[in-house]
Amino acid sequence: PDVVLSLTMLRPDEKLLLGALRDQDLRVEVAVMGDLAEVVALRTDPPALAVIRNLSHRDAVDAARRLECTGVRTVNTSSAIEVCNDKGLQALVFARSGVPHPASYHAFSFEQVRDAVDTLGWPAVVKPVSGSWGRGVTRLLDLDCLDAWIGGRESADAAGKLFPVLVQEYVEKPGHDLRVIVVGRTPIVAIQRISKEWRTNTHLGAEVRRTEITNEIEKLCAQVVDVLGDGFYGVDLVADRTTGELKVLEVNANPEFARSSAVHGVDVARHLAEYLAERARE
Ligand code: ADP
Ligand code: MG
Ligand code: ZN
Repeated sequence: PDVVLSLTMLRPDEKLLLGALRDQDLRVEVAVMGDLAEVVALRTDPPALAVIRNLSHRDAVDAARRLECTGVRTVNTSSAIEVCNDKGLQALVFARSGVPHPASYHAFSFEQVRDAVDTLGWPAVVKPVSGSWGRGVTRLLDLDCLDAWIGGRESADAAGKLFPVLVQEYVEKPGHDLRVIVVGRTPIVAIQRISKEWRTNTHLGAEVRRTEITNEIEKLCAQVVDVLGDGFYGVDLVADRTTGELKVLEVNANPEFARSSAVHGVDVARHLAEYLAERARE
């Protein structure tokens, strides 16, 4: 094959991508985890490129690492996936590289959560370093919230798997945040995720509306790509309502696009397939 599509299951997104890759006249092989044994053993006609779309973070990094060591280029790279899969690592590389990001602290104990909240003030946000769809992302309005958050965990005997968590400055946003899809180095579409709830995940019911890709958005995406390398990313941005400044909230290395494409009309799968075709011919 020219391209290996590494995945857990064919979601609508991967179905669209598969069709778009075939439109580029690429020979595509779909590989679930078990199929990789054969792919990494191919000596005569090794694939040029692999797209990593595995659902589990572990599998994604695992597949990418094994393919990279075989000499296969991967989109995204294992190192980008690793950073994107951990909001703590993202906070560290963004701080080091000057990418605007909400002030964030690692906490490895309840005591450190209290210390970080002391520094940040109310409200503050506490979230697991890995996870998605808004799960476990909690807004702490006051000391009662913090005590309740801690109380729910110290009794659950789950603290061993809990830490580290990320404690973060709460950004007062204007009723929506932004999701920007980046292909290669280029933002191809931006949407507002609009919600009455403070968490604006589409999985929690936010509505999406296409919005303009401004110079500021372009600049932030360029900074993100400089840090993570070229690839396929969902870059989430929040505007601070008081200063108007945009900050990078998080970057997703396996963004879903099928449902939002139906709304905004940008053919993300085709853009991605064109980029992958280019990379496969490098
Ligand atoms: P997930 O990976 O589960 O999507 P996020 O960190 O993106 O986790 O948080 C989910 C949602 O919660 C975001 O889309 C955003 O709307 C809101 N949110 C998270 N952190 C903050 C923050 N520091 N300030 C304001 N809103 C936040
Ligand atoms: Mg998010
Ligand atoms: Zn996420």
